[in-house]
Amino acid sequence: MFDKIVIANRGEIALRVLRACREMGIKTVAVHSSADRDLMHVRLADESVCIGGAASTESYLNVPAIISAAEVTDAEAIHPGYGFLSENADFAERVESSGFVFIGPKPDTIRLMGDKVSAIDAMRKSGVPCVPGSGGPLGDDGDENIRIAKEIGYPVIIKAAGGGGGRGMRVVRSEAALLNAISLTKSEASTAFGNDMVYMEKFLENPRHIEFQVLADTHGNAIHLGERDCSMQRRHQKVVEEAPAPGITPEVRAEMGNRCAEACRKIGYRGAGTFEFLYENGEFYFIEMNTRLQVEHPVTEMVTGVDLVKQQLLVASGEKLGITQDDIKIKGHAIECRLNAEDARTFLPSPGKILQFHAPGGPGIRVESHIYNGYTVPPYYDSMIGKLIAYGDDRNIALARMRTALSEIIIDGINTNIALHEDICRDLGFISGGTNIHYLEKKLEA
Ligand code: ADP
Repeated sequence: MFDKIVIANRGEIALRVLRACREMGIKTVAVHSSADRDLMHVRLADESVCIGGAASTESYLNVPAIISAAEVTDAEAIHPGYGFLSENADFAERVESSGFVFIGPKPDTIRLMGDKVSAIDAMRKSGVPCVPGSGGPLGDDGDENIRIAKEIGYPVIIKAAGGGGGRGMRVVRSEAALLNAISLTKSEASTAFGNDMVYMEKFLENPRHIEFQVLADTHGNAIHLGERDCSMQRRHQKVVEEAPAPGITPEVRAEMGNRCAEACRKIGYRGAGTFEFLYENGEFYFIEMNTRLQVEHPVTEMVTGVDLVKQQLLVASGEKLGITQDDIKIKGHAIECRLNAEDARTFLPSPGKILQFHAPGGPGIRVESHIYNGYTVPPYYDSMIGKLIAYGDDRNIALARMRTALSEIIIDGINTNIALHEDICRDLGFISGGTNIHYLEKKLEA
């Protein structure tokens, strides 16, 4: 096992990784921006290095500075967390060519999955169901593109191969709008992602978002840890997640999960990863793979009892997975609410000083957050300030505990979305379970 690693991230996930390291006796190096000296994990880490200015481009995206920090502190590996450089194949390559271990998949795997066209192609070949679509990049032949769309059937969605974060997509409902939409998406993609490759898919009108968690080692073993439902979204951003997904039977879970695990073996996947699907009328459609730890990983940890960060560290150090598929038993139910420093009604970010923080507690309650009394939320980064996770023997108990926790938590001095979560947890549709990805936006409009 590693003696010392660099945590190349900030906020709650940096603290989460630090805690796993402490438990495993691994020393930690916190690299942080000049605006983040007071982060909780910076205070707790064995060593810390300021790697640049407040802007992410100067610090958390500053590859040479992060590698230098690993060099001067004599660390062996780098954990990228999520966001920032976590899915950047060039970064992973630089880490490895500089003699460090990248705690994540091989750079080539990140590259394969980072391009949605090659990812879909690899998944099709591995037996993972995909959305009916062009099956490859769209060319310049307008007649051919019209023919493809007709064959798929309207509405279709034009998506950038290099897209991410819910950007680079356009829905087309009629043939008249098709060619213009393709050229618009192409030019946007070229500006935003430096790659104008686009492809076409059937647009699913009312799907749910269901994703499968996988773990794979470097010895050819891969397992799945069941699914999460992340359909409660606003602007393609997840707001509430849960595991297991309401209505998914053990048989369907096993069937889909095994397909994902098998795909991992076929592509030589390493580490933790997530297969994201849209789920409509009982069918799963692969949309993308996330080659990293996800924000919502705790709900899977709660229902499986597996510490995903520890497993990432074990696998990265070359150990064999100590758990088999038979060891994975889904028990109980877990729900996660993402806590953001933003106005609950307008969603405008609300950075500033936290004058009072009181964490909720009680059976089944887990708080993943770096905030504390007197901490100032900087304006430079994502507005997520933590996650509240509630676990129970069943979904109703988890929901009841979440409502209690939301009523106990106090975060004064900044605005938060706690009121929105209270609303969602009292919403009859959410209480019934199985709402689709448009549900929250429609509720907010109403
Ligand atoms: P990103 O990498 O930007 O997150 P995804 O491919 O994961 O892109 O898609 C993001 C979201 O866009 C999905 O969660 C879904 O809400 C919507 N979406 C993408 N593809 C489709 C589709 N074929 N039909 C309907 N909605 C889609």
